[in-house]
Formats: sequence, structure tokens, C-alpha cells
Amino acid sequence: MKKTVLEIDLNALEHNFNVISSKLKPSTKFMAVVKAGGYGSDSVEIAKKLESIGVDYFAVAFTNEGIDLRKAGIKTPILVLLPQVESIKNIIDYNLQASLYSFYFLENFIDYVNEKEVKKCFCHFKINTGLNRVGFSEYQINDVVEKIKNCKPIKLAGIYSHLAATDDLNETKFTNSQINLFKKLSSKIKSQISYNPILHMSNTSGIFNYPECEFDMVRSGIGLYGYNNYLNKELVPVHSLKSVIAQIINCKKGESVGYNRSFICKNDMMVGVIPIGHADGISRSFSKNIHVFISGKKAEVLGNICMDVLMINLNGINCDEGDEVVVFNSKNNAEDFAKSVGTISYEILTNLSSRIERKIIR
Ligand SMILES: *Cc1c(COP(=O)(O)O)cnc(C)c1O
Repeated sequence: MKKTVLEIDLNALEHNFNVISSKLKPSTKFMAVVKAGGYGSDSVEIAKKLESIGVDYFAVAFTNEGIDLRKAGIKTPILVLLPQVESIKNIIDYNLQASLYSFYFLENFIDYVNEKEVKKCFCHFKINTGLNRVGFSEYQINDVVEKIKNCKPIKLAGIYSHLAATDDLNETKFTNSQINLFKKLSSKIKSQISYNPILHMSNTSGIFNYPECEFDMVRSGIGLYGYNNYLNKELVPVHSLKSVIAQIINCKKGESVGYNRSFICKNDMMVGVIPIGHADGISRSFSKNIHVFISGKKAEVLGNICMDVLMINLNGINCDEGDEVVVFNSKNNAEDFAKSVGTISYEILTNLSSRIERKIIR
């Protein structure tokens, strides 16, 4: 396609789902994390595909992300990881499962359930085991259990926690302490409520690096999209960001390229104009550190990345206006791109703006 497009390869998604599932015991449930638009892809298309191949659960960060899935016809249970008080009505109305993580949220939730005489709602109890990001700490657990037991309509579908450093094998001791604390606190909760919620803790790199932490369900996000912090050769990237050479400008030695003249040609140059810029998620701060690919050949960015375009060096590359440009794909992947600018694939993928057309490959 002769414009900027983000291809989403659903075959790669299915492959990754199968690879990750093959690491799990047959009885372990699979929660697919499709927050942030399915890590910048298309959460509805991703969820539909995963639902059709047997995923057990979805997770999103915020309530409106869950509503989008319900409106698209997704029937699978959906956990909202970080619901806000203002969205409690929608959580109930759209049959979403709230994470109970703070007294502020829990008390408002209970008030709503009592006031509206909600009959039954499934929730997940979030325990903080050391990430210190979201969840109840050990000393708060008894109070939380009391409140939940006193609100009959609330049923715990799950008890969960999140690991801080599953991708860092120097932190094995800390990770094991988180796992042990989770075992202890989840047993305590279960003994007080006398039924068995689903226990879940592992994210993608936990699945690969800590098989002992599978519990009843795992939560995988980045792995489904083809990445794992220890880039796993078995996984295939789902996202390919492609563009086109919109124009070629011949510059003479000494001429400048782009805003603020930050690049000066040291010799005569063929400059390619590519219609993707910082408004699309290719940050201006990447200007000096990234390159793109034309028929597999590297072309570096020249000068400052603009809002809607960036310019590249085409010297030594045999190409024409209209030729395809690859920003990243399954071969030159988003993890390498992210490394070149000092971040992680998660950030690059989730920053791709909605202006870029998503093209679904089935
Ligand atoms: C985002 C998120 C995940 C998914 O993590 P990946 O590393 O992408 O697999 C799992 N659990 C929670 C609580 C999250 O916020």
C-alpha cells in the first residue's frame, strides 16, 4: 500500500498464542492482555481472533477499553486492571470484572453495588507483593476480606499480583520472594472466603523464566505480539510499520535538510521524504538514532523528524519514488528499533497513533 500503514498479522498472533500455550500445563488458563489498543495494534481484531482460538480471559487497563470489546461482541470475561471510581456504573452495565486494588476504589464500588442492588459481580483481588504500583499490601488484607465478605454480591473470580522483574535474571531472589508472598497471602484469602478464585501472577517473561509461577492462569501481553524481553526466537512480531518514498529531493553539498537546518549535506545527496512523523509516534527525540529499510538496505534519518514527515539518506540505495519503506517488521523488529532509542518495544508499539491505518493480515 503506497502510504503509511501498520500491518497486523493475525497469523503471527495465532502462532504466538500457540507457542506460549505450549509452555503451559493443559489446565492453565490464558488471559490475553489487549490494553492500549492491543499494544498499539487493534484490540477488537486481536480479541476476536483470540476468542475464536480459545483464549480464556482478556485484560484491559481501563473500563472504556473493555466497553469497546463488549460493543464489538466479545463474550469472554474481561478483567479491568485499573478501573477508576467514575467508571463503576459501566463496569457493572457492561459485565466487566473490576480489579479491587485500593480502599478508595473498593469502598466506592461496594457503595454502588449496595445502592443499586446489583445482584452479582465478579471481581479480582489485587495484591501488592513488592512492585508497589497497584494493589493491597499484606497488612491491609484482613480488612479487605472483611469488606468483601460483608458485600454478598461481590464474588472473587480471581486473586492476583504482578511481578516487578521477570525479565531480569539478576533479580531472581526478589522475584521468588514475590511469588512466595503471593502464595502465602492468596492461601490466607482463600481460607477466609472458603471458595477458590483463579490465582494469576505471571506476565510474558514470567511464563518463559518462572514456570513455577503459573498458578491457575497467566497474563500475556507482549508475547502475543511477538516480543519477550529475552527476544524469543519462537515468537513472531505481529506489527509491521511500513511507509513509502513520497518524494526524492536532490540536495547539493552544503545544503541543509529540515527544520532548524540540523543536517548539512557533506556531499551531494539524494534525500527521501517519508510520510510519517512525530504525530504518528516516531518521536522527534529519535532523530539522530533511527534508520529505516528500503529493500533491506539501511537508510538513516536526516535532520529533525517533523510532525508528518521524516527525511532519509538514499545515497547508495537503488530506489524510486513510490517504493516501500520499512520502519520495522518481523525481520527488522520493533525491539531493535526501541533499543536504538533507549526504550522498550512496549512503548514504541503503544505510541503508534490512531492516524496510521491498521491493515489486518488474516
Ligand atoms: C500489562 C500487564 C500485563 C502484561 O505484561 P506483558 O509483559 O506484556 O506480558 C500483565 N499483568 C498486568 C497487571 C499488566 O499491567
